[in-house]
Amino acid sequence: MSSSQTQPTIPIRRWTDWLHRSTFQRQLSVAVTIGVILMALFSSVGSAWQGSRHIKETLLQQGERIATSLAMQSTLALLSSSPDNVAEAVGATLTFPDVLRAEIRRADGSLLLARGVAVSHSDAVMPLRALPKEAYIESETEDAWCFVAPVWTRPTASPFDVQPSEAEYLGYVRLVHSKNTLTRMMANIFVVNLTSSFFFAALFLAAIRFLSGRITRPLHVLSGAMARAERGEANVRAVVDGPKDIQAMALAFNRMITVLQDRGDELQSHREHLEDLVRERTAELRQAKERAEEASQAKSAFLARMSHELRTPLNAIMGYAQILKMDKSLTSRQLTGLNTIHSSGEHLLLLIIDILDLSRIEAGKVELNPTTVQPRECLASVADIIRVKAQEKFLHFELQCADDVPPAVAIDEKRLRQVLLNLLSNAVKFTQQGLVMLSVHRQERDLPADQVCLRFEVQDSGVGIAPEELDRIFEPFEQAGDETSRSGGTGLGLAISRQLVRLMGGDIQVISQPGRGSRFMFDVIVPIVTAQESAALVNEVQAHVSGYAGPRLTILIVDDVLANRTMLVDLLKPLGFDLAEASDGQQALDQVRALAPDLVLMDLAMPVMDGLEATRRLRAEYTMAQLPVIALSANASQESREDALGAGANAFLPKPIERSSLLKRVGEALSLNWVFEAP
Ligand code: ADP
Repeated sequence: MSSSQTQPTIPIRRWTDWLHRSTFQRQLSVAVTIGVILMALFSSVGSAWQGSRHIKETLLQQGERIATSLAMQSTLALLSSSPDNVAEAVGATLTFPDVLRAEIRRADGSLLLARGVAVSHSDAVMPLRALPKEAYIESETEDAWCFVAPVWTRPTASPFDVQPSEAEYLGYVRLVHSKNTLTRMMANIFVVNLTSSFFFAALFLAAIRFLSGRITRPLHVLSGAMARAERGEANVRAVVDGPKDIQAMALAFNRMITVLQDRGDELQSHREHLEDLVRERTAELRQAKERAEEASQAKSAFLARMSHELRTPLNAIMGYAQILKMDKSLTSRQLTGLNTIHSSGEHLLLLIIDILDLSRIEAGKVELNPTTVQPRECLASVADIIRVKAQEKFLHFELQCADDVPPAVAIDEKRLRQVLLNLLSNAVKFTQQGLVMLSVHRQERDLPADQVCLRFEVQDSGVGIAPEELDRIFEPFEQAGDETSRSGGTGLGLAISRQLVRLMGGDIQVISQPGRGSRFMFDVIVPIVTAQESAALVNEVQAHVSGYAGPRLTILIVDDVLANRTMLVDLLKPLGFDLAEASDGQQALDQVRALAPDLVLMDLAMPVMDGLEATRRLRAEYTMAQLPVIALSANASQESREDALGAGANAFLPKPIERSSLLKRVGEALSLNWVFEAP
């Protein structure tokens, strides 16, 4: 298909462009003007042509009549061949308007008399037989007609003639008649017609413009009003003017604007109302938030205080348990007892931490802290705690650790123990007879070589849980069963455990039937720790530090609780340190000035001057600015750690103090080479 078929040609496109661009009034004016001019031209030409036909006929009849009349008057002159006889008649003929010339010729064509302007014509003699009786037009030029009228004798009828005499051809008269009148009259008719046509056309055009203006002007006014309304001008109304239909449009527009304005006002009032409502609600919410924050702060402060109060005695219990464990003369039963004291203390500590963490778990602020863990050791220590409880209820306790479990993995041990202890405590709590079992084995999964999926299971032959309560028991403060079957507990254990397992990337599942026991299980994917890494860990854990290489060093122990100071002295003295003590920050500063120790173990919460202030002052004094300080606190929170480090402490240790952690920090602070003793 060619482009000329698909696209309009250029003139047509221009024409349509013009139609789109120009106003209706202009289009109407142009169309009417062209139409009127054409009409005026056609009517003028037509009427001039029609008029000229009548005039021409009249002029031709007139010419023939004059020629005939002259022919009749020329008979005698031709008979007598005397021009004088006809000279007067010729003169009279020439007085007729438009008669240019008159000639009288004999039958042989010779001229008898000629008057008027010279006009060329043929002098040929007409054959007799072809001669008409009447006048006729001999020839016609652009400017004139040539009439010929034959001259015949007029025989007189005589009663004495036997045969009537025939008319004799004597000659002819030629008359040249001008077309001037015809041309002039035609021109006059044309001009008059054209003028009148144009006059009426102009009148018509003016009327059209006036009428179209009456339509377009109100339309312009209306479209102006619409444009102002579109720009957002308020109270726009169209002027109701012009023809009836345009007035109807303007009225419809005004009605539409009124409706829109009403709706806008309605919306505005709704919005204002809504804003008031939002302001009110925001204020209420702000108040509620402030109240909640205040309550939360009070709760946090209470929990922090409580945990501090609980940690202080726990610190002494665990510290002495650790010191006593170092005694070589202990029987294995005593050692097991001490281990149980130690791990139960640890469990208690975990519970305290959990209380503190509870609010953070709820706020989603708890982060995992994976370390290298030996699953067997970890599970055994958990089992040790639970076994004691199980034995108290005469339950059989079993620990199964499958061979495919790697020797070391990276996992948050504290959280894992917390979950397992919680599940196992529940198992023991809700089982009256039979068995409680903890097991771990590897789950087959499509995982990278350095990762493993471990399934932990806690099984019991206890009371079981009704199917409709299986979901509910994971909700905070929910306990299954009726009032009588419920045992002591907060109902938080499973909720915390599920959240912790979810943090580890798994989820706790439960299968249970009332009266037939329960099975809680969860899968976690953990990185496998290589043999070298785990060997290093085994060394560190199993090896016994018995002292350090190099000159004797002095450590200042600062704590307001005597039991804590004594515990630290008992822990460090056997390793060969000289020890000094202070019970508040002020004393600590005095001791540092007097003794110039190599290291300070600084408790944070103390009377007179707390550990933070004392550390800050130490750092401010030039001579003591480099003195290593290890901060100790029963408040194990991140804020407490940051405060201590911010005050200038080199390290932070939460209470109760772990011997291995303490020695690690002391070794780092004093750059010690430990001396180990084989286990
Ligand atoms: P608590 O043990 O403090 O009540 P938990 O959140 O640990 O809170 O447990 C919630 C509830 O789930 C328990 O009160 C008990 O009804 C049910 N439950 C948990 N473990 C077991 C189990 N091993 N056997 C039977 N019921 C259990």
